[in-house]
Amino acid sequence: MGTANHFARDYADARRKFLAAAKGAGLKVASYANPNKGPAGEDLFTDVVRIGSPAAKRLVLVNSATHGVEGFCGSGIIVSWLRSGQWKSLPRGVAMVLVHAINPHGFAWLRRVTEDNVDLNRNFQDFSKPLPVNAPYDELHPVILSERWDEAAAAERGRMFDAFRQRHGAMALQGAIGSGQYRHADGVFYGGTRPTWSNQTFRAILGKFAVKARDVAFIDLHTGLGPYGYGELICHAMPGTEEWTELQAWYGEGLTSAEAGNSSSAKLTGFIRKAVKEALPEARVRALAIEYGTFAMPATLGALIADNWLHLKGDLASPLGKRIKAEIRRTFYPDEDDWKEMVALRAHQIMRRAMRSVAEA
Ligand SMILES: [Zn+2]
Repeated sequence: MGTANHFARDYADARRKFLAAAKGAGLKVASYANPNKGPAGEDLFTDVVRIGSPAAKRLVLVNSATHGVEGFCGSGIIVSWLRSGQWKSLPRGVAMVLVHAINPHGFAWLRRVTEDNVDLNRNFQDFSKPLPVNAPYDELHPVILSERWDEAAAAERGRMFDAFRQRHGAMALQGAIGSGQYRHADGVFYGGTRPTWSNQTFRAILGKFAVKARDVAFIDLHTGLGPYGYGELICHAMPGTEEWTELQAWYGEGLTSAEAGNSSSAKLTGFIRKAVKEALPEARVRALAIEYGTFAMPATLGALIADNWLHLKGDLASPLGKRIKAEIRRTFYPDEDDWKEMVALRAHQIMRRAMRSVAEA
């Protein structure tokens, strides 16, 4: 079976493929029901399998669809991993947990955010404390969510963005918008004011499946930044630290760090790996995001701004609504066989490295 066949056409198809692959592998699935429905009225779940001995203290944890629509990629990777039988080469004493669609609502609705318009990868904050302030975003918000989706609004947005880039640099625009904000619930990259359903579910999964682990390789699967099909390995450790040195020994020299500024990702706070460290305070957690490139950055950002406008102010059933949904799907999931082959091959290489490295840690 060709690699592309492991990738789905929509959330329901992805879930069917995952459940069938788990069944084929003889694995029990734990399902967490999201209280909402998908666009066709379908039920939404986060599904989890654990492979390996229940007593294993070493764990490879692979998570998908933190950013909903990016779940096409993560699902294809997990399904092809199960179908290919590569999971059988798990070393003794190592377990593997595969999380299918931690943000099933975003996946089903072709959105990067959760049902509450929250960017899950900005939502892991201590909400009893003051939240990060993002003044540059505040300045840009009025043109990010315009009242109408027309040429005048686009021109105004273009003018504001150009002026911002001229003053602060191109990366600063991505940083200001993408690093996250906690003030505009109707804006993009909004981190929320409380843990979302996906946040709580992820913590519940850790409590049930990972709590005994003392050495953890965490891999979170993303798309939308970098060159087409290329899997950038992003960590959040500073070069020179123990975690950085170990991650480099595990995954090779190509590692980048958002903190060090050599990654295609902006520096951000509130990411999901924080939950792994918090849930397993006694464990050594080595966290990695694989970020697969799709198209150029302005397209990605434009698709997100359009999608945010559509769900807050627009009509999903209109021709414009359908165009915007098609565009965000394509932007985070190039529906091409070559892209899928590159994505799955790289992920499986990294998963095999993670198994080997965590076994020897
Ligand atoms: Zn992402």
